[in-house]
Amino acid sequence: MQVVDKETALAQLRAHKHELLAGRGGCVMCALANGGAGAMLVAESDHGAVVLDRFACRYGHLLVVGKRHVERASELPWEVYSDLQRLTYDASCVIDACFKPARVFTATLGAAVELPQTYSHYHVHVIPVYETDERARPARVLSWSEGVVIYEAVEAERICEQVREVWSRRNSALAKSAE
Ligand SMILES: [Zn+2]
Repeated sequence: MQVVDKETALAQLRAHKHELLAGRGGCVMCALANGGAGAMLVAESDHGAVVLDRFACRYGHLLVVGKRHVERASELPWEVYSDLQRLTYDASCVIDACFKPARVFTATLGAAVELPQTYSHYHVHVIPVYETDERARPARVLSWSEGVVIYEAVEAERICEQVREVWSRRNSALAKSAE
């Protein structure tokens, strides 16, 4: 894992985006939620996918991404919105269990227009925050101003495996307690 500055991250993101969309245009989030995440997919539901953010605000940062291209929460039927919130809740629980952060931030951000590091497609950030001082202020966690966490490929796969394993153990425990 390395923490790179914003400019370096943006350059890598451009390359990643180009690869993900195979040079075609289109929405990165649509691609990610519909098969493009590959090994970075950690969980999915009818309406959403949870992926490891390759350009993370903090170690273990996950993204909950709707499978359909919708830009505003108010355009989502409740069935879809609540399904995505369920994934967000599960992701928060799994992050707590995996990484033991001081806090977990969840945030729906996204730009009104496509910008290099953010997307208009509805998605939720689920971010473990390890600091308890000034660095844990939302504005500092949610921006790339302090650098971006980039993983080695092997490391990213290991994190995803860990998350998937804890996620499925949690699901089995929940299913058992519901019996
Ligand atoms: Zn999209």
